[in-house]
Amino acid sequence: MPNTSHPSEKIMRELIKEAWDDEKGIIAAVIDEQGMIVAKGETTILNENDPTAHAEINAIRAACKKLKTDKLPGYWLYSTFEPCPLCSSTIIWAGFEGVVYANNPDYKGKQENWSFIKCRNVLEAGKYINEVKLIENFLLDEIKDYFLLK
Ligand SMILES: [Zn+2]
Repeated sequence: MPNTSHPSEKIMRELIKEAWDDEKGIIAAVIDEQGMIVAKGETTILNENDPTAHAEINAIRAACKKLKTDKLPGYWLYSTFEPCPLCSSTIIWAGFEGVVYANNPDYKGKQENWSFIKCRNVLEAGKYINEVKLIENFLLDEIKDYFLLK
């Protein structure tokens, strides 16, 4: 039986702490039905010359590879930043139960807004494929200065 309810402050705080401590930009994690972190991801676009290597995508790829599946029903995706259209679409394709994010483009300072279509709008458009629960701006106060201070 699931022993976690979402969103989990404990899980998001762990990701936020990692983003701050290790200057990793964005951290995402795939959480299973027991509330355990299956895989984490960080952005590796530049290191891998891969425009799709977003934190969320990397976390989803790692989780799917580990579990030998391409579908994650019952799983949640946590991210320290609002998932972009690419990642939001992947969340639909992977069949996630829910997604929770902390920071959002209002707090990106001069950086490009890569969440140029709201996660909420992508999930809404794709709900006939898979309806995904969404928690926005969770613990926002603990991460919103991250990009503004860069
Ligand atoms: Zn993305």
